[in-house]
Amino acid sequence: MATLGNPRNTIEILQKYEFRFQKKFGQNFLIDERVLEKIIRAAGVTKEDFVLEIGPGIGTMTQYLAEAAREVTAVEIDRGLIPILADTLGAYGNVSVLNEDILKVDIAALAREKNGGRPIKVVANLPYYITTPIIMGLFERKVPLASVTVMVQKEVAQRMQAGPGSKDYGALSLAVQYYAEAYIAANVPPHCFIPRPAVGSAVIRLTCHERPPVECKDEKLLFRLIRAAFGQRRKTLQNALHNAPECGFAKERVAGALEALGWDASVRGEALTLAQFAQLADALYALDKREPAV
Ligand code: SAM
Repeated sequence: MATLGNPRNTIEILQKYEFRFQKKFGQNFLIDERVLEKIIRAAGVTKEDFVLEIGPGIGTMTQYLAEAAREVTAVEIDRGLIPILADTLGAYGNVSVLNEDILKVDIAALAREKNGGRPIKVVANLPYYITTPIIMGLFERKVPLASVTVMVQKEVAQRMQAGPGSKDYGALSLAVQYYAEAYIAANVPPHCFIPRPAVGSAVIRLTCHERPPVECKDEKLLFRLIRAAFGQRRKTLQNALHNAPECGFAKERVAGALEALGWDASVRGEALTLAQFAQLADALYALDKREPAV
């Protein structure tokens, strides 16, 4: 069994199986041992842990995870990679490979089966074309999670970590920060992959909150407000919340909530923290309880 992680062994395996990269699956395989070690360190994987890996490719990071963790399940969509994974991971008794689309896997059921329902660690060099659905799917489907340590496009990592006042701040920043604390552990240049991606990459660790850092009466309303506010980020909140199809609040209604909070009527969503969005959601919720919604 070849030890992967360097370009020579990776190319040997690719040639042995005459593997053809599939662009539609976002296939860029890691060929830098230092980056692989950094990811495992950032994820803080120990022999106690069950780890879910999304998109193992030819099994490079899976080998590192198998050494560090108690048990690993790797979910790979590309059927052509399954015989390769049987070869590169054959020596590890603590790894199972599922040939599935991660967006269709019941991960909460997997966590119950493999980890007694306790929070799991997710580690991945993600396919970039579905980064957001994968991460938001993990959070919104209430999978028990300890942390999510993933390679993503650099700009996406910056958006996840950004706060008010930054151009990168947006709905993704707030959604991620509602569920986790974000930390960028490394920036990774294109030459660390084969083939080289057209964009820079970064490893981000999302350490999941046991409970959201803000409380609000209606979580769905909070996320509707956030999406609407950033759907038209240069508009005032009054206009953005009025115009957005998912909200459609009368301007007077938003004005009433802003006044109740003592905020300027011309405030924009991009200036508000997560805690302030939660306050606004509660103010609108309180108004709704007094009068029927418009
Ligand atoms: N982990 C490997 C590495 O670091 O070398 C490969 C990472 S590559 C960026 C992304 C992997 O995700 C590919 O193996 C690709 O086939 C797989 N993939 C893409 N879409 C997927 C999906 N919906 N479900 C599961 N795996 C997927």
